[in-house]
Amino acid sequence: MDERRDPPPDGQDRAPLVAAGSRLPTVQEAYAGYTEHFLACGDCRDPDRSCEVARELWRTYMDVGSQAARQVG
Ligand SMILES: [Zn+2]
Repeated sequence: MDERRDPPPDGQDRAPLVAAGSRLPTVQEAYAGYTEHFLACGDCRDPDRSCEVARELWRTYMDVGSQAARQVG
């Protein structure tokens, strides 16, 4: 069957938790990374600002979550 996995795009992986070429974090790890950052980050708690780091972490969480859902479901 066709279970080819696309490699992550090079050049734009700036996610702080995930080193290039390493495995993806689990859903729990990704969510913990997001919440821990959120609690410690002043920008995240200021609704007038946007936080790039949080956006990356949240996107990682969503990516991992949808992949996990695909594997389970
Ligand atoms: Zn932040």
